[in-house]
Amino acid sequence: MAEKRDYYEVLGVDKNADEKEIKKAYRKLAMKYHPDVSDDEDSTEKFKEISEAYAVLSDEDKRQKYDQFGHAGMEGFTAEDFYQNVNFEDIFQGFDIGNIFDMFGFGGGSRRGPRGAQGPQRGSDIYTEITISLEEAYSGCEKEIKIRRDALCPTCNGSKSKPGSEPQVCQTCGGTGQVKQVSNTILGQMMNIRPCRECGGTGKIITDPCDTCNGKGKIRESKEISIDIPAGVSEGDRLRVSGEGNCGETTGLEGNLIATIHIKNNRNFERDGTHLYYTKEISFPEASLGSEVTIPTIDGKEIELTIPAGTQSGSVFRVKNQGMPSLKYNDRGNMYVTVNVVVPQKLNKHQKELLEKFAKISGDEIKHTEKGFFDKFKEAINK
Ligand SMILES: [Zn+2]
Ligand SMILES: [Zn+2]
Repeated sequence: MAEKRDYYEVLGVDKNADEKEIKKAYRKLAMKYHPDVSDDEDSTEKFKEISEAYAVLSDEDKRQKYDQFGHAGMEGFTAEDFYQNVNFEDIFQGFDIGNIFDMFGFGGGSRRGPRGAQGPQRGSDIYTEITISLEEAYSGCEKEIKIRRDALCPTCNGSKSKPGSEPQVCQTCGGTGQVKQVSNTILGQMMNIRPCRECGGTGKIITDPCDTCNGKGKIRESKEISIDIPAGVSEGDRLRVSGEGNCGETTGLEGNLIATIHIKNNRNFERDGTHLYYTKEISFPEASLGSEVTIPTIDGKEIELTIPAGTQSGSVFRVKNQGMPSLKYNDRGNMYVTVNVVVPQKLNKHQKELLEKFAKISGDEIKHTEKGFFDKFKEAINK
């Protein structure tokens, strides 16, 4: 799992901050990082981070849970769960906020309303984050993660009734799930059809609810899931595991698990798409005379790179097919090695003499000006 920052830290508020302070802090940050106004390339991620922090800290129940259990207390919450009580319209008065909700992975600007009673309803998606190393992104890997999700109640199988008992036909709607209402208007009689309130549109009344799920038809379960991460994934890629989300109301049709991939910084390589960048420090004699140097590769091996005589600092060498694999094509990027010629900071007497001799032969005049402490000091502050 990605290491998440503390929600209070994200919003820059005190642990004892009240509702008003939290809202103020969030609004300020949101105006800064809203992807519509921010030039920051990470603005979407930042906006999500602050929005999630706000969603939790502005909700009394969630905040209490978070204070007690930290991020673990939030496990298994879907994006929808997070934002269900946030009134974005209130916070972004005058802003067009339609696309904020798409960004969080659930559509529409309306908050969670009652689910339609007709037709099979798929459960909601669950969102998680997985952090892997660059080496794992190179080779592909399998990660075990733990999720909490809604599953069909194993006792009643989603029927909500105690095994052996049958739900009763709703008296109000006669089992149709709909009620008709006739009203007289100036245009004549109008007939309205709406879902039955008594049975919630199901046409049935649970008289003897299942003990395991308390008549909900669903239970919360912890599940370990193994996710195959393909070679070549990039930071921010989203993997979808079908059918590992929450189960739907009464149908047992499951949503998906959506895992966002994060890749840790690597101490050797920088990555740009499928290409890798490595910096090799070499000495002045190596650069000048030419040499063979050893370069690590992303697959854990090493290669020998020939540095030709007279190589300048900053020269870039291309090593073909030593980059990252491509997700889409059967192809591998290159590794680019930048050579950095390092000037020694300390020389012993013998090295100094040889260098001075070298300079003399090369016709370089080395001027030694012995400056006093104050001259050097002045020079330093005038720079
Ligand atoms: Zn049950
Ligand atoms: Zn009814």
